[in-house]
Amino acid sequence: MKVYLDGQFVDADDAKISVFDHGLLYGDGIFEGIRLYQGCVFRLEEHLERLEYSAKAILLKMPWSRQEIADIVCETCRVNELENGYIRLVVTRGKGNLGLSPKTCSVPSLVCIADHLALYPAEYYQEGLKIITVPTRRINSAALSPGVKSMNYLNNIMAKMEADQLGYIEALMLNDQGYVAECTGDNVFIFHKDKLWTPPFHAGALKGVTRSVVLDIAEDLSVPVMQENLTRYDIWIADECFLTGTAAEVIPVVEVDGRPIGEGTPGKKTATFLEEFRSRVAKEGTFL
Ligand code: PMP
Repeated sequence: MKVYLDGQFVDADDAKISVFDHGLLYGDGIFEGIRLYQGCVFRLEEHLERLEYSAKAILLKMPWSRQEIADIVCETCRVNELENGYIRLVVTRGKGNLGLSPKTCSVPSLVCIADHLALYPAEYYQEGLKIITVPTRRINSAALSPGVKSMNYLNNIMAKMEADQLGYIEALMLNDQGYVAECTGDNVFIFHKDKLWTPPFHAGALKGVTRSVVLDIAEDLSVPVMQENLTRYDIWIADECFLTGTAAEVIPVVEVDGRPIGEGTPGKKTATFLEEFRSRVAKEGTFL
């Protein structure tokens, strides 16, 4: 596998970053996870826009144009002869000294990795996921905006470990007010009484690209959407629940905190949304 690193394609084993990079020292950097389907990059513009917004929010000046980054993403897929896969784009603050200030980091680093994807096993889509609320709360958006897809995922990693310790694959995370924020790597949705509900960004949700595809689908299907604060109770009594993410796509949830959701089987509306999502994936995308 070849990895793009600061202007060159290098073998995966030689793709190395300095130990003085503030991405390593402080988690000072941003990233994107993007999907390649049948030789087409899905929603590339949206991912690159989110990357630019993340950079702007953390005052990281990217010296590359959107087109240059788009070309790097496509070239990384071509060099690795990938048709389907997962692309990881990383921008670190760059090499600096041991102080916190990024002033000593003059040049950010750009990394692009494209590889085959370890998807959730197919049975999860048929049978649905069981998830659990964990003690670790989502970082307060006044401390670090959840809109910034930063290299500092320790908060989500802690939540993931807590779920894992309890035998669950995914964790529901609440914000510091006790409202539902999102899962560790996915946005959360419910259907209740023919409306689609999802937490607003200010509740601690990342502006997920898959989330925005689902909102487009809802609009096209004339399903009313409510972006409002949700409690755990709202999730427990929902008719259906599903998660969205670049890797997970649209995945049904059948149990939350030991309570079956609806009938305790993947919901029909969720199945329609998953089908719609997959048909959009087949139609849209930036060709390599
Ligand atoms: N929330 C978090 C915390 C994430 O890391 C991700 C991405 N894996 C998502 C939500 C889903 O976003 P997207 O649909 O853009 O992948």
